[in-house]
Amino acid sequence: MGIFDLMSDGSHEELVFCENKAAGLRCIIAIHDTTLGPALGGCRMYPYKSEEEALIDVLRLSKGMTYKAAAAGLNLGGGKAVIIGDPKKDKTEMLFRAYGRFIESLNGRYITAEDAGTSVQDMEYLFMETKYVTGVAPAHGGSGDPSPVTAFGLFHGLIASVEQAFDRTFTEEEMQNLTRKAEADADPSDYTDRYRSLKGPSLEGLTVAVQGLGNVGSHLVGHLVDAGAHVLATDIDQEACDKVKAKFNCEIVAPDEIYGVECDIFSPCAMGAIINDQTIDQLKCKVVCGAANNQLAEARHGSILEEREIVYAPDYVVNAGGLVNVYVEMEGYVRKRALRMASQIYGNTQRVFEIAEKQDILTYVAADRLAEERIEQIGHIKKGFFGGI
Ligand code: NAD
Repeated sequence: MGIFDLMSDGSHEELVFCENKAAGLRCIIAIHDTTLGPALGGCRMYPYKSEEEALIDVLRLSKGMTYKAAAAGLNLGGGKAVIIGDPKKDKTEMLFRAYGRFIESLNGRYITAEDAGTSVQDMEYLFMETKYVTGVAPAHGGSGDPSPVTAFGLFHGLIASVEQAFDRTFTEEEMQNLTRKAEADADPSDYTDRYRSLKGPSLEGLTVAVQGLGNVGSHLVGHLVDAGAHVLATDIDQEACDKVKAKFNCEIVAPDEIYGVECDIFSPCAMGAIINDQTIDQLKCKVVCGAANNQLAEARHGSILEEREIVYAPDYVVNAGGLVNVYVEMEGYVRKRALRMASQIYGNTQRVFEIAEKQDILTYVAADRLAEERIEQIGHIKKGFFGGI
């Protein structure tokens, strides 16, 4: 299949092939759709076996970013970059600065960030060559680690899923209190007993199984325990389990037991394709809602969840807090604003469930509809005015 065939399949706008032999840089930047705003997405560094493999990955990932930004209500398009190389061996200042110069040449049509295989340190090198980079260190006015905001947004998606699957509703006041408490947490000078005693939504009586206690999962456990949920948690890294167990009142189970535990909500916060032929029959939950990207191994697994009456909260809707965080960084980072914006994931998730019910479609298809509708509507109002952003 030719490059244009691959591109038109995903309706991409532009592909940029970048090479700097001296720096050892071979990179592809994919700009999927800029209807809503500049294309933002991380830069993945991976030792792809072939150029085609890298190309397919960047096309798929950049399209995913368009949908994630649109469903989150952000004025961003979707883009992604891949650097062909081994992050353990091939990283140099020269390589990242060469990549930074290519980004600069796109004049803001693509804005980069960290992704698998790249780090805050690498973003620092990019920052020397271009201003179109997010996720830089707080010392440079950046937003730093996005995970606490991702976990906060995810918790809001989980609350909406609880309302959908169980006979529970939460008041606006309870939802507002969540944000008030988090804002006070973000600014400890503000953290008075008044905030500490605010009542958020209660998850008492519910059991949540959390897979993966890394950056996002460990923060999520904090929110869940705070809300009174019973938490069963696991990680393949014993140290991560010990840390979470020491900090929160939760139970640790073995990694291969997590799928089959008696629980109300399963929250995958480790890796993708986790809802697959091996795991799906083991699930005893009523909700799947987690941070991991691309949780359904195949689309048909979404249908199986539906048949089993398990509510699936689409991953890219509920894990958009990290993207919200870098979006706020573009405007001048304010943590409280990032938290408030991430709290909107509650309403976004409710909207997805509504669309799914009204149109009698699966929730992950409804998420795509929500994103596509917004792109179409905003595209219409932009038509004729300076041709875009
Ligand atoms: P992380 O690397 O900090 O944590 C992942 C954890 O999962 C690690 O502790 C790892 O040991 C554990 N793990 C891996 N395989 C496992 C298995 N089979 N069973 C149990 N535990 C296992 O990653 P993170 O930043 O917490 O992100 C978690 C997921 O959420 C990833 O899929 C990531 O792509 C996605 N995500 C993260 C963010 C963010 O802001 N960090 C934003 C959006 C999506």
